[in-house]
Amino acid sequence: MKDNLTTCDRCGSDACYVQEVNHEIKNYMCYGCGFVTNSLMKKGEQFFEEQFEILPELYKDLLYEDKDGGVWIPSTVNIPTMGMVFANGTNKSNWHWSAVRSVPVSTDEDKEKYVKKDGTPYEHRMDMENIKNYSEKDYMEALEHIGVFEKQENGN
Ligand SMILES: [Zn+2]
Repeated sequence: MKDNLTTCDRCGSDACYVQEVNHEIKNYMCYGCGFVTNSLMKKGEQFFEEQFEILPELYKDLLYEDKDGGVWIPSTVNIPTMGMVFANGTNKSNWHWSAVRSVPVSTDEDKEKYVKKDGTPYEHRMDMENIKNYSEKDYMEALEHIGVFEKQENGN
């Protein structure tokens, strides 16, 4: 696998991370605008149509088609040990990124409330009371809020 940065076809920033899955498929994750796409995200492609069906309404509204027909959608980050970052709002003219940190499940009350299918408690839960909102261009700050970059810098 080869990783590198390119210019985002959606927002024009140079912080678009490309991951080559194979010769035909590349994933694109832009840290400038927080949107993602891949070579199969094109209208008419079965992969896209399947993804589209399960998208939340806001994500459908925020779809962006670039000059090559690539369809970009807002990314959703969900890392149980850190937190979540997702697009939140009512429509494309009224939305923001929301970042929620996870916290350890430590109290007895939480251990009863946050239970996996096998009956054991989760180790972390999303702390929705401490949700923070960021504007579209501040996607990186939203990721920082949940500590995504701290982890990478430590090399873990
Ligand atoms: Zn972008």
